[in-house]
Amino acid sequence: MPAYICETCGVQYAPTEQPPERCIICEDERQYIGWQGQRWTTLEAMRAGEYRNQLEELESGLTAILTVPKVAIGQRAFFVQTVNGNLLWDCITYLDEATIQALRDRGGVQAIAISHPHYYATCVEWSQAFGEAPIYIHAADRHWVTRPEGRYIFWDGETVEPVPGLGLVHLGGHFDGAAVCYWPAGAGCQGVVLSGDTIQVVQDRRWVSFMYSYPNLIPLSASKVEQIAATMRRYPFRRLYGAFNGLNVLDEPDAVERSARRYVQHLREE
Ligand SMILES: [Zn+2]
Ligand SMILES: [Zn+2]
Repeated sequence: MPAYICETCGVQYAPTEQPPERCIICEDERQYIGWQGQRWTTLEAMRAGEYRNQLEELESGLTAILTVPKVAIGQRAFFVQTVNGNLLWDCITYLDEATIQALRDRGGVQAIAISHPHYYATCVEWSQAFGEAPIYIHAADRHWVTRPEGRYIFWDGETVEPVPGLGLVHLGGHFDGAAVCYWPAGAGCQGVVLSGDTIQVVQDRRWVSFMYSYPNLIPLSASKVEQIAATMRRYPFRRLYGAFNGLNVLDEPDAVERSARRYVQHLREE
């Protein structure tokens, strides 16, 4: 039986004879159903097409993985290499033999961690391709898992280390369980944050933003944004890499702090 993939969000569901009737991710007010109605594909169908994954080394030990042409939301995944093991941060829908081989050549994937449900993608396929690597998902988002047969680790609390030296930090906001990845050894030991869209890098690339919904432009509350900024003070960084290609904040260690202040100022203006 095929494990169907929603064409709009790229999230895969448990194998079924017929495509699921609905996508719970897209029906949520943070997403949307495709303008042509609910559509489904499979990994096999995608592999027969023109897709491929591009690997780009962003700095020593950090590689972005991006599918071209764009699939669904179009996020990138990150492959972080450390002496203690390698982590796949966030997930993308398309996976083929060339990608698996390229990552095996770099030491394989020992753990997978995902910021929030929009990027669950085909995480079970990725896990299976790398020796049933555990998939770290925050427990607050457990009910969003659409392919339950995976080897999940539902973590709780502020932080957990799927690989020693690589932390997940729970921030909430965009989703109750939304998290970022903190790599203190990154950027020459000045700290790297992989922020998904829990903290979204904006187009000028010196600032970030925080939304409940990006496609439907629903903001977060002032108190939530202040809470995210307060938590992030404990995780100093030099570089922050967002979910989308090229959206990186380099050498702006106060970007989260000052962006949160600006955001809250706008919300509170009379
Ligand atoms: Zn969907
Ligand atoms: Zn999202």
